[in-house]
Amino acid sequence: MNNKGIKTVLSLSVLISLALSPAVSANVTDKDILNDQATTGDVVSYGMGLRGQRYSPLAKINTDTVQEIRPVWAFSLGGEKQRGQESQPLIKDGVMYVTGSYSRVYAIDANTGDELWQYDARLPDGIMPCCDVINRGVALYGELVIFGTLDAKLVALNKDTGKVVWKKKVEDYKAGYSITAAPIIVKGKIITGVAGGEFGVVGNVRAYDAVNGQLVWERPTVEGHMGYIWKDGKKTENGISGGKPGQTWPGDLWKSGGAAPWLGGTYDPDVDLLFFGTGNPAPWNSHLRPGDNLFSSSRLAIDPDTGKIVWHFQSTPHDGWDFDGVNELISFDYQENGKTIKAAGSADRNGFFYVLNRENGDYIRGFPFADKITWASGLDKNGRPIFVDSNRPGDPSESKDGTQGTSVVSAPAFLGAKNWMPMAYSKDTELFYVPSNEWEMDIWNEPTAYKKGAAYLGAGFTIKPINEGYIGVLKAIDPKTGKEVWRYQNYAPLWGGVLATAGNLVFMGNPEGYLLAFDAKTGQIKYKFNTGSGIVGSPVTWEMNGEQYISVLSGWGGAVPLWGGDVAQRVKHFNQGGSVWTFKLPK
Ligand code: CA
Ligand code: CA
Repeated sequence: MNNKGIKTVLSLSVLISLALSPAVSANVTDKDILNDQATTGDVVSYGMGLRGQRYSPLAKINTDTVQEIRPVWAFSLGGEKQRGQESQPLIKDGVMYVTGSYSRVYAIDANTGDELWQYDARLPDGIMPCCDVINRGVALYGELVIFGTLDAKLVALNKDTGKVVWKKKVEDYKAGYSITAAPIIVKGKIITGVAGGEFGVVGNVRAYDAVNGQLVWERPTVEGHMGYIWKDGKKTENGISGGKPGQTWPGDLWKSGGAAPWLGGTYDPDVDLLFFGTGNPAPWNSHLRPGDNLFSSSRLAIDPDTGKIVWHFQSTPHDGWDFDGVNELISFDYQENGKTIKAAGSADRNGFFYVLNRENGDYIRGFPFADKITWASGLDKNGRPIFVDSNRPGDPSESKDGTQGTSVVSAPAFLGAKNWMPMAYSKDTELFYVPSNEWEMDIWNEPTAYKKGAAYLGAGFTIKPINEGYIGVLKAIDPKTGKEVWRYQNYAPLWGGVLATAGNLVFMGNPEGYLLAFDAKTGQIKYKFNTGSGIVGSPVTWEMNGEQYISVLSGWGGAVPLWGGDVAQRVKHFNQGGSVWTFKLPK
């Protein structure tokens, strides 16, 4: 290009940026959120659509063109303490909203990468996040940007200024509660869960009026606790039962039963149900709580208007390995014998993939997606695990001095065959793209008792790799057959989300720092770019001024360096960071 050409390009870009600046986004409506997956000009929900499929119909960036994409800007989250950046960006009218570690929110001009505003929640000293000071993203509604904080509050900010409009205490952080998930908005209500299963909290899903933050209903997720509907700020007389205390729990243990729905939920308008997963029963030592311990390690279908549990499916009854069961339940339809099946898929921390009927929770099929599973030999006709009793960590009260039960080697490790990192479903290939890990653990039980605000595990553990060459495995899985269509093996454990597009591409980042693009049908790597720190965030794509963009957060951290045992050793040289990278094709 000659000098004159460069000048023309420069002045054009100045003109374009002047015309677009300052970026102001329009109010987000329920309709915008319901249509999010189909509308390529914005991303206004966590999961890129409330069903959580993380699929985009955009195809300008495809298997033929992706080699040409390049970064157009990178934005630093700043701060002295860079920790895991697990956020998914939202984008509306050229403004990007992302969260950073330590409960921070940023509005960024999506054309230029310029900061529009920043909000810092200024957390108290006593917060108790179990697994790094992360946050997974905001919700947008009306003129509000809404997110949950590590001290268990919901904060609503004005989308144009970043100023606080309202703030609500959801739970008591001193009891071990925190919020890390992105809230979702359904029919004008903010729906949020809470974290804290490692502290013996009582899990809870709540709905708040998305305009003024008033509580609408609350749904505890441990059997025995009542749910309530609130009208005009007052609790209504009649509670909605969540089952009787003591049916599946011994004594008073249901009062500190965990089952925290810490990963947030999805929603399917076809059946008008929320889907939330619940975490481990507390404490981890399962010998203290004989029984199934409902509704821990389960998927719950919840009525969005009342908070009533419509159906539940428990993936790990009497969980003794911290398998949780929070993994996202993604709605999808498929054809069988000329009929449309309204299904939902979920890849559980316990190593099994489940396909459920999302109308009634019936088990359709399940299959292992982890290479090594030691704790169960399979699933029965109802999807209940067939336990390998010898692989349950032993009862400490049966040991010589009563301090430590028999240690066993269990696979998957408690960090899961798949942890929080969201998978994607492509309606083009009819495959799920599942970010998974192959690791195992030594695990043993110890005596414990509940004390408010203290760790409530009753277990010790060390996570170990199974294979020398890899821990992470991205798997393309056919939910109709359980067949693995392709895999990509990664040295470090995978900890970031997946995105599928109509361009026959699957995007994912790895802890080594690369944004990777795969051929959705074959798994062949079509593009890679190193973002300078590990990727544990979820990539998104959208269209702006006729061009397709890809964005992802970079910033290594999360649970692996903190809880990963021998695996943490393997990844300890990875550098921390905190930035948003944005890519597109050259003009
Ligand atoms: Ca959209
Ligand atoms: Ca847990």
